[in-house]
Parts: sequence; structure tokens; C-alpha cells
Amino acid sequence: MTHCNQPPTLYVVVPCYNEQEVLPLSSDAFRVQVQAMISAGKVGSASRVLFVDDGSTDGTWELVERLAQEDPLFEGIALSRNRGHQNALLAGLMDCRDRCDIAISIDADGQDDPAAMEDMVDAYARGCEVVYGVRSDRKTDTAFKRSSARGFYRLMERMDVETVYDHADYRLMSSRALDALAQFEEVNLFLRGMVPLVGFTSTSVSYERRARLAGTSHYPLSKMMGLAIDGITSFSVKPMRLVGCFGLVASLLGIIGIIWALVCVAIGQTVSGWASVIVVVSFFGGAQMLSLGVVGEYVGKTYLESKRRPRYVVSNRTK
Ligand code: UDP
Ligand code: MG
Repeated sequence: MTHCNQPPTLYVVVPCYNEQEVLPLSSDAFRVQVQAMISAGKVGSASRVLFVDDGSTDGTWELVERLAQEDPLFEGIALSRNRGHQNALLAGLMDCRDRCDIAISIDADGQDDPAAMEDMVDAYARGCEVVYGVRSDRKTDTAFKRSSARGFYRLMERMDVETVYDHADYRLMSSRALDALAQFEEVNLFLRGMVPLVGFTSTSVSYERRARLAGTSHYPLSKMMGLAIDGITSFSVKPMRLVGCFGLVASLLGIIGIIWALVCVAIGQTVSGWASVIVVVSFFGGAQMLSLGVVGEYVGKTYLESKRRPRYVVSNRTK
């Protein structure tokens, strides 16, 4: 925490993966916003924008180095390879937590309105240590993205994973909250689920989410589904319980089937039931595969966590 009358040092953490098209535009927007807040005395003059290059294969890192040379406001670290948005974000947050009082994570593509940072900092000044940016509408999304995102949050809710509705990864965290987050050692990262577990006083501010300034999304349906599966299986064992319930119902049905078969034999009405046998066998065959898959997902996750591999490796930094 800062001394009462000194403005807090802010770090804006920006994960970037192949963002050479959009970075010149969005970095300008970040600069304008942070400088305005420094001038207004809302954040300290040591505040910075920290880019995390997530193993980009285009000119993103060269761009970050150039930005850092031109303006001391900009800093950058590079990961040794692409580790994905969540890991890159964590790398940035963990890197700056000793140097800042507050950190705001934001996407590199200009979709998140930088102006909301001011509301976040104000909320921090009022005593909130975690401030979630919640999008006010989804006008700029395609109908598909909109409905799949809604399905995602619904599913999370159903599976008892505590998330903030329509909050992605645009949020403010105090260094105290970051220190607490550092104690979460899991490898399967789903920050949206982890931050609510960190606790502390929190609130949300709403902002308008815009279309990407340039470039294309790195979150195709396959990655979104991956994130949803990670989010659920890393935070909830409900799917396993559902499998258990399903097994129970299936065995009850099986017992009824056996009784039915015995009754049929008793009345002398045997054979003729080929179709029903096939239906039952194939249904339970499929159900068993599905159940095994769910169990396997957790076993695999346990395996991955047990290796305790590093979640990212920083290979380079500006200056
Ligand atoms: N990103 C990253 N590593 C990846 C994929 C994405 O650091 O492997 C970054 C990306 O540069 C952007 C943010 O994560 O700053 C969100 O990605 P994107 O805009 O592609 O996703 P969308 O907004 O479409 O969900
Ligand atoms: Mg985006």
C-alpha cells in the first residue's frame, strides 16, 4: 500500500501475441491514458506500461523494444515461447508486482477502453483491491461470439465456478492481491476463476468493449472451448459428480432391464428384441466413453499439476 498522500504507482500489463499491426495504435492509447492520469495526480510518475511478448513470430518484440527506447513509460519482457494469453498475463503481473502498487491488465488490441482505467484507479482509492472491468454491451461482437460467450458464462455458473459475468481479463489488482495470487501455484491457469478466490474488497466498473483496432483474434472457437474446459475442470469437480449420478441412474435402469428380461423369460416372450439390445448397448457404450473422458480430464490435470513445471520462462527484457 502507498503512503496516504502519494499517488500509487500503476503498471499496465499488456500480453501481446503477434500484435505488430495493432500495437502502434494501442500503445499510443495506453500512453495517452497513463500520462493523463499521471498529470491528474491519480497515479505516480513511476507508472509504466509493461508489454509481455508471448513468443510472437512477427515483429512484435522489435516494436516493443523500439517503444521502450523512445519512451521510458514503456517496458517489455519476452517469454521464451508462446505460452498462451493466461500465462503471458501472469508473467507480466508477477514481474511487476514488486515495483507497483497497482497493476491493470488489458488486451493489446484496443478492445478494452483505456478510459475505464481511471474508474478502476478511483475505485482503488476508495479502498477496493480488485476491480473488475465488465463490458457494458456486446454490440461489436459477432452474433456467434456473443452467444458462445453467453453460453460460456452460463456453463461456468452451472458448474459452480465463481466468475464475474462479462468480465474478461481487464482488471485492476493491488500489489497485495498480486502477492496473494502468487501463492496460487497451479499450472492450469484460469485467472478469471482464480482472482475471485484471492478475495479482498472488490468491485466492478463497466466499459464499452470495442472492435479490434487491427489484426485478428487469437481466440478461435477451439481455444475458447479449451479455456472453458480448463475453467471448469480446474475449479469444479461437478462434472465428476454428474458422471457419478449418471452411473447411478444407468445402473437403476439396468436393474429394471434385468427384471423386465426375467419377466419376459417367465412369460415365454423371448428373442425378437434385437433392436432394443443394440440401442441399449450402444447408448451405454457411448455413455461410458463420455464418463471415462471426464474422469480422464481430471486425471490428466492432476498429472500436469504434479509435474510443477514453470508456467512461463522470461527470456528477454527491455533496457
Ligand atoms: N494473446 C497472448 N497469447 C496468445 C494469444 C493471445 O498473449 O497465445 C493476447 C493477445 O495479444 C491479446 C489478448 O491476449 O492482447 C487477447 O487475445 P485476442 O484479442 O486475440 O482475443 P479476443 O479478444 O478475440 O478474445
Ligand atoms: Mg481481442
